[in-house]
Amino acid sequence: MKGYAMLKIGESGWIEKDRPACGPMDAICKPLAVAICTSDVHTLWEGAIGDRHNMILGHECCAEVVEVGSMVKDFKPGDRVLVPAITPDWNSLEAQAGFSMHSGMLAGWKFSNFKDGVFSEYFHVNDADGNLALLPSNISPTDACMLSDMVPTGFHGVELADVQFGDTVLVVGIGPVGLMSVAGTNMRGASRIIAVGTRPVCVEAAKKYGATDFVSYKNGPIWKQVMDMTDGKGVDKVVIAGGGVETFAEAVKCLKPGGKIGNVNYLGSGDTIDIPRTEWGVGMGHKQINGGLMPGGRLRMEKLGALVSAGKLDVSPLSTHVFKGWDHLEEALFLMRDKPADLIKPVVVIEE
Ligand code: NDP
Ligand code: ZN
Repeated sequence: MKGYAMLKIGESGWIEKDRPACGPMDAICKPLAVAICTSDVHTLWEGAIGDRHNMILGHECCAEVVEVGSMVKDFKPGDRVLVPAITPDWNSLEAQAGFSMHSGMLAGWKFSNFKDGVFSEYFHVNDADGNLALLPSNISPTDACMLSDMVPTGFHGVELADVQFGDTVLVVGIGPVGLMSVAGTNMRGASRIIAVGTRPVCVEAAKKYGATDFVSYKNGPIWKQVMDMTDGKGVDKVVIAGGGVETFAEAVKCLKPGGKIGNVNYLGSGDTIDIPRTEWGVGMGHKQINGGLMPGGRLRMEKLGALVSAGKLDVSPLSTHVFKGWDHLEEALFLMRDKPADLIKPVVVIEE
């Protein structure tokens, strides 16, 4: 089979590989559509997970099942499925403890990390009954790709920040992940959503998803602007979906006592994260910092899919660049690296 692989850090291309084997609990699927993620960019060009040789990239897709193992009960060849980016080992002790994404630190992230990803004619899914979800018939393959990672990750930031009715919430970063954090924050009943980001296409989308105020990190410290906008009170919660290690200090400064930070941003550089002592209440401010990898799994995918299927969440504004056919995959990947002003997310449709 053909797959688009990381050859080494900074180099990629099409390669030939054997079709993966299907274990008794597994499924082999073929993509109907794939989406490119900022994480593919971090992996390939920044060496975020270290060097990888001939590893097929990609972890966002919607697919058709072509083969299932003898123990798989609920899926069969021909089923169209949602595929989460994170596919946990559901019988691990970490999963039993409630952290299925960490059967080993971050080990629920398998595609294009520990094994070949989805930019391939066929790919392997561990624990098919636990990890796949049927694709609702009214969701297109393009929209379904947004359910692999953007919706579950953006919403997880909201869960980690524990957004409540009436909260004032700061969402740092309004790329596709942050936009879904804005949408999730709005669904959770925030009264005011202050969004940080500058790309006009993202600002417009953030308004549609419920952002009420905007801050540019290019206009000076975020915390100063947020304090000015809130009469010096600050915000109840912060979701971080962009920025760098220095963003945490800003977030802590923006928070009211008792506030919570939910981070889903990847921290690619810096050895430590600074927590400003005074604004952290000299150690006694009850300001919590949570950071997490998105949870995967079938139940969550079914529920998030139901939100889209029922018309409560419109993910279509995210797919700004839709291509047809594998021939456009490389173009789509390079587009994600270069992030032109009109881009939110590139998608490549293989089969409608
Ligand atoms: P994008 O690069 O598309 O968006 C980043 C956003 O952050 C943009 O709005 C950008 O603004 C803003 N930004 C850039 N620099 C700063 C700064 N210094 N301070 C504040 N905001 C800034 O990324 P994605 O939305 O695709 O992904 C966001 C992050 O989530 C990535 O790090 C990605 O790796 C990570 N991720 C995490 C997952 C998880 O499970 N935890 C899963 C998937 C992704 P501007 O408009 O100016 O560009
Ligand atoms: Zn992703």
